[in-house]
Amino acid sequence: MFKLTAALAATIALVGASAPVQAQTRPDQVAFRALYKELVETNTTASVGDCTLAAQKMAARLKAAGFPDRDLTIFTAPDYPKNGGLVAVYPGADPKAKAILLLAHLDVVEAKREDWTRDPFTLVEEGGYFYARGASDDKAQASIWVDSLIRYRQEGYKPRHTLKMALTCGEEGGSPFNGVAWLVANRRDLIDAAFALNEGAGGQLDDHGKRLAHTIEAGEKTSQSFQFLVTNPGGHSSRPVPDNAIYRLADALEKVRAYEFPVMINDANGGYLRKMSKPTGGEVGAAMAALAANPRDAKADAILSKDPSLHTMLRTTCVATLLAAGHAGNALPQRATANINCRIFPGVSRDAVQETLVRVVGDPQVKITKVGPAVREAEAPAPPLTPQVMAPIEKISAEMWPGVPVVPILQAGATDGKALTAAGIPTYGVQGIFYEPDLGRIHGLNERLGVASLYEGRDFLYKLVKAYADQP
Ligand SMILES: [Zn+2]
Repeated sequence: MFKLTAALAATIALVGASAPVQAQTRPDQVAFRALYKELVETNTTASVGDCTLAAQKMAARLKAAGFPDRDLTIFTAPDYPKNGGLVAVYPGADPKAKAILLLAHLDVVEAKREDWTRDPFTLVEEGGYFYARGASDDKAQASIWVDSLIRYRQEGYKPRHTLKMALTCGEEGGSPFNGVAWLVANRRDLIDAAFALNEGAGGQLDDHGKRLAHTIEAGEKTSQSFQFLVTNPGGHSSRPVPDNAIYRLADALEKVRAYEFPVMINDANGGYLRKMSKPTGGEVGAAMAALAANPRDAKADAILSKDPSLHTMLRTTCVATLLAAGHAGNALPQRATANINCRIFPGVSRDAVQETLVRVVGDPQVKITKVGPAVREAEAPAPPLTPQVMAPIEKISAEMWPGVPVVPILQAGATDGKALTAAGIPTYGVQGIFYEPDLGRIHGLNERLGVASLYEGRDFLYKLVKAYADQP
């Protein structure tokens, strides 16, 4: 069993300092490191990368570990030969027990060699970090899933529940193809499960490497933009009239600015408020407890909503992001438009938000329409944080990181989890990988992940999946 040693704690504390202590690599970590290196060094960007190749390489490793061909499915859609993925099945002993799905995406955000200090597609270990595009997002978890399945097979482990692993392409955008959406539409049987584990949350370190919280994602907000459009016959600016497209639009925006969507409390943000109330303390801590108990506590809402991160976690938000109006400096405007971007609380529909905006604006001359592609992000309710899901996380987390609270979060950003949850497979973000305040520079330059953090996450997830797989 892996315990956090004083030396390892010192490594984490010193990460970024001039002479970090190197953690000892355990023998079983050597094989994992090679797998991780192979995956990270397989370019899977939308521009020139190849997810199918990465999927084939991971399938080859599983096959070498004893997975029969029938349990390994490499899938590609006809028009997207390089956007393929892999589903691996590890059959459970109880045919009546529902499967557990392990999800990770293979594709990575673009990375230009000339912008990076090191080659983004070569795994570099330096100063206690792994540097590479995808070092954390999301090839850390993808490698851990493959490695765990290999180890389970080599041990002759017999889970009660079937384990399924889906490695997919297209999470980061840059291509219209999304592997999870494709599986849901075409091979739902292959990924059917009681619930799924995914990216979307992790441990939080402070600036000194101290562990603050171990977060679990249970739900994601949906992004939807609306266009506000006002048209007018216009005319010469020397003869203004009261009915002006710009003023009318400005009045509508003023109403949106003044409007707050009501507080909504679910398992994710309610759990967050309850767990963080005590460690936060003071007026804010008290407001957290009060709002979790009573979502209509306006005073508590006002205190918490001064913090933009809390404000967005508590409700649907809509904000003006783009503005365009008029056609000449000496003409009355014939057209005025604004883009309003809304981040919608899980379980609330786009249509309901549109109706609210129409009501709040209260002006039929302001046309409010949805912006964006015909195929929109799924609208999914937040997955419930049942004891069945939470208890193993709490137990293993307490063993590995005593005293560090397990804290549910509602994700304001988005992952593939929403599409799965919408398809009836509740999806949770859980990694056991601890991140520094810069979140490992995911999507950015010189993406990196603490070596010790990655190995810990591997130990955590290996145990967690077993705990779920053995559940009655
Ligand atoms: Zn990701």
